[in-house]
Amino acid sequence: MEDTIRMSLAEVRATALAALAAQGFSPAHAEAIANTVTMAERDECRHHGLFRMAFYVNALRAGQASPDAVPTLSDLAPGVVKVDAHGGFSPLALEVGHQPLAERARSQGIAALAVNNALNVAALWPEVERLAEEGLVAFAYVSAIPYVAPAGGIKPLFGTNPMAFAWPRANHPPLVFDQASSASARGEIQIRLRDGKALPEGWAIGPDGQPTTDPKVALAGAQLPFGGHKGSCIALMVELLAGPLVGDVLSYEAGERDKANTGAPCGGELVIAIDPLRCMAGGNREAQLAHGEKLFERLLEQEGARLPSDRRYEARKRTAVEGVLVPRSLHETLQDFCAGKGAAKLAAYEGDMLLHEQQIKSAKA
Ligand code: NDP
Repeated sequence: MEDTIRMSLAEVRATALAALAAQGFSPAHAEAIANTVTMAERDECRHHGLFRMAFYVNALRAGQASPDAVPTLSDLAPGVVKVDAHGGFSPLALEVGHQPLAERARSQGIAALAVNNALNVAALWPEVERLAEEGLVAFAYVSAIPYVAPAGGIKPLFGTNPMAFAWPRANHPPLVFDQASSASARGEIQIRLRDGKALPEGWAIGPDGQPTTDPKVALAGAQLPFGGHKGSCIALMVELLAGPLVGDVLSYEAGERDKANTGAPCGGELVIAIDPLRCMAGGNREAQLAHGEKLFERLLEQEGARLPSDRRYEARKRTAVEGVLVPRSLHETLQDFCAGKGAAKLAAYEGDMLLHEQQIKSAKA
């Protein structure tokens, strides 16, 4: 039997929407989450596509996420707006904050959006890409569940702490990068555990603080930041920007709140938008962007180098025509969700690994 099923993007969205509605999410949350899940499938960012549906559903069923909280917008300063998600998932809160942030960036030159009390299990590129599509330069920062030890330390303290950056381009979708500050995604370690493969050096340490290439020991110990102390400093910065700066939690505090171990932390996000026009005297967006293009041209002259986000844009063209492949086990889980059932097990290969990880944790306890 084929172990994958091909779905069009319209089917992906319709399935996600039906599943979220059947699980009790309000139409507004179901739409916003289905949009972000579909965009991730479209761009072949599968870790944040349909695979994440089980995280949304599990956090709801564990009573940790609100199915229908209405995000509220408020002004904190001429250049700072806040959206309180009131315990709902982040996609709707980010949609609510988008236009006010863009307007403030245009009127003030630079503006910030502080998102509070939002569960976040998504990629960050959607929020910065749509700001750059409006001609703004954008940054986003989120802290997460504490899996990462600081450089030189041995205990998990930082989240995998993603950060994203977007730069508008004329006649081309924005340049975007979006990356965690850990050396690897947790899922990558889980996949190697499943496959019985060793980890590359530098990804993790065991509970004794010693470097390890054993995925089981790594999951019981701590992940490492990318780039040694430099990545550790970036992870530290993200903690401060997405937590204390916007009046929200640090990763270790979010981890303590995740009583049901859903892997869906509730906390803050900082999004910053800058209008290039307002950043130099006599701002000329066209000239500024054209100047940026010179860097991209030189980069692309080097064989082997590519721009971040170009992989996604290539995938975007392809999946619009071909649709996407979805593991059959994940498809079955989605059908269960549509029928109002919970996850018998978390979907797909990474889900199997999360269960495995939970077993390791309970065996340790
Ligand atoms: P990757 O290491 O896969 O990619 C990071 C960035 O680097 C991407 O923008 C990618 O662009 C770019 N890139 C990759 N290879 C190259 C290359 N050879 N040259 C130039 N650019 C390149 O991402 P991570 O594993 O670090 O993170 C994955 C996702 O997980 C992110 O979207 C992040 O937001 C999300 N995340 C979310 C968390 C949460 O709590 N919500 C926690 C941690 C991570 P491209 O897309 O084109 O490949």
